[in-house]
Amino acid sequence: MTRKKPYDFIVVGAGIVGLATAYKLQKKFPDSAIAILEKEERIGKHQTGRNSGVIHSGIYYKPGSYKALNCKNGREQLVDFAREYGVNHDISPTGFPLPCFWI
Ligand SMILES: Cc1cc2nc3c(=O)[nH]c(=O)nc-3n(C[C@H](O)[C@H](O)[C@H](O)COP(=O)(O)OP(=O)(O)OC[C@H]3O[C@@H](n4cnc5c(N)ncnc54)[C@H](O)[C@@H]3O)c2cc1C
Repeated sequence: MTRKKPYDFIVVGAGIVGLATAYKLQKKFPDSAIAILEKEERIGKHQTGRNSGVIHSGIYYKPGSYKALNCKNGREQLVDFAREYGVNHDISPTGFPLPCFWI
């Protein structure tokens, strides 16, 4: 691919972290040019494509801690994203606040 203008952002690695970072950058700076560099021939080939598919709810972290809040925030954003884009997932119907995500 040839591009004469410089990129505003370059993200290295097309796993969930790289793709989510690029997604958020695009939302925040819609006119920016973003490149994602991936060494494999397709995205999500490593950890992202091989995990258990369960979103961590954050209950094992100290209540109110940064980790717990970050986990809760991420879970909520993931549920919203899945609903908005029709990503197949399931949330445990037990009433216990442990959403199980099978993506
Ligand atoms: C067995 C297993 C089960 C898991 N289960 C869960 C779970 O149930 N729930 C959960 O939330 N998390 C789970 N995780 C953790 C979660 O999958 C990872 O935290 C997450 O996928 C990491 O994403 P990442 O983008 O950082 O890494 P990766 O998905 O590994 O992506 C990194 C990308 O960078 C690319 N890359 C590396 N070096 C370069 C380079 N020099 N140039 C260009 N590209 C490069 C790689 O090819 C790869 O595509 C699990 C992990 C494992 C291994």
